[in-house]
Amino acid sequence: MQNLIEKSKKYKMNTYASFDIVLESGNGSTLKDINGKEYLDFVSGIAVNSLGYGQTDILKALVGQACMLTHCSNLYLNLNEIELAEKLVENSCFDKVFFCNSGTESVEAAIKLAKKYGKTQKNIDTPEIISMKQSFHGRTLGALTATGQDKYQSSFTPLLSGFNYAEFNNIESVKSIINEKTCAVIIEIIQGEGGILPATTDFIKELREITQDKHILLIIDEVQTGIGRTGKLFAHQHYGIEPDIMTLAKGLGGGVPIGAMLAKDFVANSFIAGDHASTFGGNPLACGAAIAVLDKILSDCFFDEVKAKGHYLKERLLELNIENTEVRGMGLMFGMEFSFPVKPIIEKCIENGLLLIGAGANVIRFVPPLIIEFEEIDKAVDILQSALLEIK
Ligand code: PLP
Repeated sequence: MQNLIEKSKKYKMNTYASFDIVLESGNGSTLKDINGKEYLDFVSGIAVNSLGYGQTDILKALVGQACMLTHCSNLYLNLNEIELAEKLVENSCFDKVFFCNSGTESVEAAIKLAKKYGKTQKNIDTPEIISMKQSFHGRTLGALTATGQDKYQSSFTPLLSGFNYAEFNNIESVKSIINEKTCAVIIEIIQGEGGILPATTDFIKELREITQDKHILLIIDEVQTGIGRTGKLFAHQHYGIEPDIMTLAKGLGGGVPIGAMLAKDFVANSFIAGDHASTFGGNPLACGAAIAVLDKILSDCFFDEVKAKGHYLKERLLELNIENTEVRGMGLMFGMEFSFPVKPIIEKCIENGLLLIGAGANVIRFVPPLIIEFEEIDKAVDILQSALLEIK
């Protein structure tokens, strides 16, 4: 293992603070490293492997498609991208989809579409976008500009012009920075990297009203919250609103890289052929995996089970009765905020066979596969409890 870790340090760029674990295989909600040590996974590749590991339908879709056609470019159509586009549109409030490969790319596509709409439909010469402080939208320069956190931005200035930042969950703050150039507001329903902070219902409803009144687009970034993570297909559905644009990635491909940007026709029509593209977008292999994921997630009772397991996880975390902590979230996306940095707790849990991840310095994030079992939730909470006692 040590040898591999050194090789990784020698040959890979130093962009990740990875743990010294080399993973080899996975089954259900359990991962195994190259020494055979098993880990119960409450990270899911950061809310990606929603159906866990070794899921038969995803494997069948991948193997079957790999034998037929792995790539063909957008010069031509392929069966899987058409079927996936239909499934996403028919199960959402949107009319059209654009496929790409990651979350940040889906946000780039949304930014470009919003700007094109601003220029062509609203005659704004230099369209501006409002995003939220403490948000996270990705690492490419457009998405990074939308990300309202100095720690991610400061080394890479100058960023894009035309972005303004409002306080999350503060409608007056949004109102105060809307101006005649504002073409869109981009927001996460639950700020993920920002600390698992859910938007309040009043805030989202008022935001939708104001943006609708002023013909400003509402872009909901569901890269982390989408595809069943919160107990509904999309997190905005908990709030009874319809955005104009939505971004997806992470859970969509069940572990295979894919992103998507969806929009209503009145916005989507702003793009014409040649405006935007991605070589791998709509790739038949990735779309095949996503179809298998959606079929499973949209099957009977799936969301009820996610909600029941999420409720159980929350109850078990609250039962730990740890002073000065708060448990926040929805479905199977929770954050537990402590009054001190959680890194030592996470390290101890990993040592004891439970993978966890932070969301900011003081928050432990729980994003297990959506197929997690009740007994596995018990096991995870037991490991967390022992870790808390051990580090005291
Ligand atoms: N948007 C949100 C809400 C995210 O949580 C993330 C990643 O964590 C991204 C965008 C960027 O996604 P990716 O890492 O696939 O580029």
